[in-house]
Formats: sequence, structure tokens, C-alpha cells
Amino acid sequence: MARKQFKAESKRLLDLLINSVYTHREIFLRELISNASDAIDKIYYKALTDDSVSFDKDYYIKVAIDKPNRILKVSDTGIGMTKEELDDNLGVIAKSGSMIFKNENELKDGHEIIGQFGVGFYSAFMVADTVTVISKAFGSNEAFMWESKGVEGYTIRPCEKDSFGTDVILSIKENAEDEKFDDYLEEYRIRSIIKKYSDFIRYPIKMDITGRRLKEGSEKEYEDYTEEQIVNSMVPIWKKNKNELNQDDYDNFYSEKHYGFDKPIKHIHISVEGAVSYNAILFIPEKIPYDFYTKEYEKGLELYSNGVMIMNKCAELLPDYFSFVKGMVDSEDLSLNISREMLQHDRQLNLIAKNIKTKIKNELDNILKNERDKYEKFYKSFGRQLKYGIYSEFGRNKDVLQELLLFYSSTEKKMVTLDEYVSRMPEEQKYIYYAAGESNERIEKLPQTELVADKGYEILYFTDDIDEFAIKMIATYKDKEFKSVSSGDLGIEMEENKSCSGSDNQNYQELFEQMKNILTDKVSNVRASKRLKNHPVCLSSEGELSIEMEKILKSLPTNQHVKADKVLEINTNHEVFRSLKEAYEKDQEKLKLYTDLLYNQALLIEGLPINDPVEFTNNICKIMK
Ligand code: ADP
Repeated sequence: MARKQFKAESKRLLDLLINSVYTHREIFLRELISNASDAIDKIYYKALTDDSVSFDKDYYIKVAIDKPNRILKVSDTGIGMTKEELDDNLGVIAKSGSMIFKNENELKDGHEIIGQFGVGFYSAFMVADTVTVISKAFGSNEAFMWESKGVEGYTIRPCEKDSFGTDVILSIKENAEDEKFDDYLEEYRIRSIIKKYSDFIRYPIKMDITGRRLKEGSEKEYEDYTEEQIVNSMVPIWKKNKNELNQDDYDNFYSEKHYGFDKPIKHIHISVEGAVSYNAILFIPEKIPYDFYTKEYEKGLELYSNGVMIMNKCAELLPDYFSFVKGMVDSEDLSLNISREMLQHDRQLNLIAKNIKTKIKNELDNILKNERDKYEKFYKSFGRQLKYGIYSEFGRNKDVLQELLLFYSSTEKKMVTLDEYVSRMPEEQKYIYYAAGESNERIEKLPQTELVADKGYEILYFTDDIDEFAIKMIATYKDKEFKSVSSGDLGIEMEENKSCSGSDNQNYQELFEQMKNILTDKVSNVRASKRLKNHPVCLSSEGELSIEMEKILKSLPTNQHVKADKVLEINTNHEVFRSLKEAYEKDQEKLKLYTDLLYNQALLIEGLPINDPVEFTNNICKIMK
């Protein structure tokens, strides 16, 4: 019989699992039991939707220990696997296997992977040196045995099995220096692992439990006896009362379901009875899933109809801007046979979705108000998604989301909400000021911020691509308009500056006109600056599109031609301006040289590329000579 090779990626993962020093090896049992439970679910679901199938047999999961032979066996009476299914399902990693190896640097130890992907069945190799799977598929009369000793590959051969279902048989490893594998052959230990991770599995998990009792007829002599017992409570966690549950229960559920490898910052347990009745457990994660900001990421909640899972990612239940939320919804009011197409129009489901949206929003409000540190962690991961939510659908959702935004503040030196900003605004301040740039450090040094900062006004720093676009959607917050520090009119009345730069523009009109001619269509205007104090030049923009927005749009393949209307602002109080004036009066070549230098400096400050770096450096050399 031919030995088959695992697919390359599975092989590497196996190797990793077998050799990793993972501290939670015990989760292998959770994985196997959850597979067994899924397999029974599949028959249950069939029976509910297909009249020719009934669900009247005894459905259970059995965990058996054979200590002398070092065998741990997990059996189920579920749907089983055909020969092909054994090959397909156990020969490759089921869950986005190829993604696992995208980032080699993260592969230092298996920890992240095991948590992040729930490597499922493969985790058996963390405790076993041989894994044997005997399975008979529902409705078939043949059984097959799959067997593997790890990376070398696996074999599949026909075998005997009475009833349909699957036995997963683990040959537990010998004790190693740093790991007591014997533990996994101890009844007590296995039972407590089941209790810890799988208590809420809906089907009975049976074990032969050893007890001690007085021998019959004797008053002193004891004997051991074994008795099959159900070791899990079988009530799904979401049907339990909140006060029967503790944080660990929710955290375990989160990892059992592979919602994420982090610890969620919050869970929301909802039980609603009324126009529509449902239970839900939702989680707000702390960390970004590896694929969150990619096309591959699928949002959605698990959807159950009265305890039976009917869909594992129901997208209709979550708005895009809350796509990071994980969890499940169980409702008695949904039909089992509901199809994806029907879901969109299902009244009950829409009600649930609306309700869930409000609950999430309220919970985020609460965290923001009462647990600021936690909120900031969350925001670091998912703030972008909220901002994206404001921007998309033409700002339709801005009212839900704008209070949840945080931006770095120039005066507070920390993240602040728009509410906090507005509440600090002095009476005469007209606008909410912001400055966009690559990082807080770079924005801090932007000459454009000088006047606003000098006035003592707070500036919000926009460092995310999406920031300025989202803010344009909001437009006003509590009747205050947003204003970029680079925009034409800052709305700051600086008497001395205003009159002087106004008349400056008249005085030097010809000079500025000439500079504009020198720069041709690179700028739409040259004028005296009202905002500069210590720097000689800067760029500002006129019109809707800012320079930062132009940068971002230009980085997208479809927007190569967008252009902000740039204005070159000159500080007429700066020493350099005197030289400029002199050149204008005496030496046209020099004026051209200075204009070019100043323009390129302004570009550099903005973080924009200069057109001709060689010419620029040559020009600098010229004035040094
Ligand atoms: P996952 O459960 O995340 O899909 P696994 O590696 O744990 O990944 O399992 C791969 C597949 O093998 C499952 O999706 C299922 O189709 C099949 N499988 C595993 N265990 C069983 C079982 N006890 N009964 C039936 N099918 C099973």
C-alpha cells in the first residue's frame, strides 16, 4: 500500500507542532472533541432538513483511556468520512493553510499559529507519535483506516467498523525531559481538560470513570469499579445565565471557537426576548487578525437556529465598520433552511442585526468612557476600520461613529476624542484644526502649524491615510468646521500679521507674479504667508483637495492625475526674503535660482518628491560657491 505525502505546507506545520514547545498541548483534546461535535451536528442538520434522515439514535462522544497500551481514543457517532474525505480532510490543513506560511518571521514557535488558526486535527501530533483514524461515513457500508506517524506521510486502508462515525486513536508519546505525556493517560487530568474547554458541547461526552466502593456483602473491603458517566454539562454557553459564567468561560469559548489568538478586550452577552428572540455572545478583539486589512478577510457571525449551526459566517449580521467583531447568534425565530439569498431579506435577521449594531456601539462607548487604556488598545487595532466606516457610503454612518474617533493632540500629547477637543476650544477659536502627515514627529515640525500652535490652539494630528477623507465626510462636529493648518484661510485674526501680509501681497505683487511664472504650472499661486513665523516658505492648498490627499490618491493606481492646487507661501519677515527682493531688483538669474530652491524646500518639508534632485543639489552648490 502506497504511503501518501502530506501537502508541503501541512508537512511543515506538522513538523512545527511536533517540535514546538507549546505550553498548552492540552488543547488537542478540545480540537478533537469539537470536530466530533461538528460531525454529529452534520447529521442533526441533515435530519432536520431531509425527511428521509432521522435523528433518533444515541448520539454521543466517547473519550476512552487505555493506560497500559498508552492509548487515548476519541470516538463519535457523527457523520464519518469516506476514503476520499479522509484523504482530503486529513492530508491538508483545512483552514487557510497557505496563509500560515506567508510570514516566516512569525514562525519562531508554534504558539501563535496554534492559537490563530486552530490547527485542529493536527494538534493531536503534539501529544501522540502515531495517530489512527477509523471512520465509516453516514450511509456507507465501508470503513477506512487513516494512519500517520507524523511528517513521513500517511496511509489509508479498508477496515472494519460496526456503526458510522469516527474513532481518533492516539498513541501517546513517552515522557520527555520537559513534558510528562503520561498526564494524558490520567482519567482525572483528561476529565478536567474536557470540563475546562468542552463543557458546553451540546452532545454528551462520555467517559468511563473509576470509583471505589464497599464490596457487596462486605463491611471493610473496598473494590474499584468503573461506570460510564457524562462529564460535560451540555448547556451551550450562550443559553446559560450571565451570572453563572465567569471571564474564563468566555475566554475559553473565544479560543475554542478560534475567534482569535488574542484575549478579547470585551465580551457582550445578549439575551433578548420580544418581537424577535435571540441569544448572542460577541467579542471585541484586541489584536488585528493577520488578514484583517486584506481582501481575504470575511466578516460575519456564526448563526445558529435553536442550537444548530446553520452558517459559520453570516455577514448580514454585522455592518462593515464593525467587521472586527467576532461571535455567534442563536435564534429560535430563524428557519433552518434559510439560504444566503433569503437572509438578506429576512425580517427577523434584520431586526437582530440592527439590535446587535446598537449593542456594539453602546459597548464601545462604555469602554471609551470607563476603560480608556483598553479602548486605546482596541483603537490602535481597529480605529482605521471605524474611520473607513465614516468615509464609506457617503458618510451615512458618521453619526454612529464620530464619537468613537481618537486623534493625537498637539497640546495634550495623547489621543483625544472630538468631544474633548471641542470642550477645550477657547471661545474665539472658530475651527477644529488638524495637520496631516506621515507621523506625529514629522507633523510637529511642519511650518504650517506655527501660527495655529502659536495662538495656543490645539491641533489634531492625522497620520492615517484615511483620516482626512473621513473628516471631510464629517465636515462639522458640534457646529465646528474642521480646518487643515495648510488650508488657505486659517480664520485666525492676527491684526498685525493680517494687515501686513495683505499689503505685502500688493507691494510685492510683481515679484510674486514673476515667481509664479518661473514655477510655471507647479503652483497655482505665490503669496505672502500669514502663518509662517520662523520658516521662510511652505506650501498650502486651495480648494477641496489637500496636498496630503493628493499624495494618498496618487499612490493608488487609478488616480495618477489628481492634483491639489498648491500655493507657495513666502514669509516676508524672513531674512531670506530680503535676498529674494534684492535678486528681483538686480539679478533675474538669481531670482530664478532662489525661487527654485525655495519651492523645492517647500516640497521636501511636505514630504513630496522633488522633480530633479540633481539640479536641486547643483543649485545649492551654486549658492555655496
Ligand atoms: P477544521 O475542523 O478546522 O476544519 P481539522 O483539521 O480539525 O480542521 O479537520 C479537518 C476536517 O476533517 C474537518 O473540517 C472535517 O471535515 C474532518 N473531520 C475531522 N474530524 C472529524 C470527525 N471526527 N468526523 C468527521 N469529520 C472529521
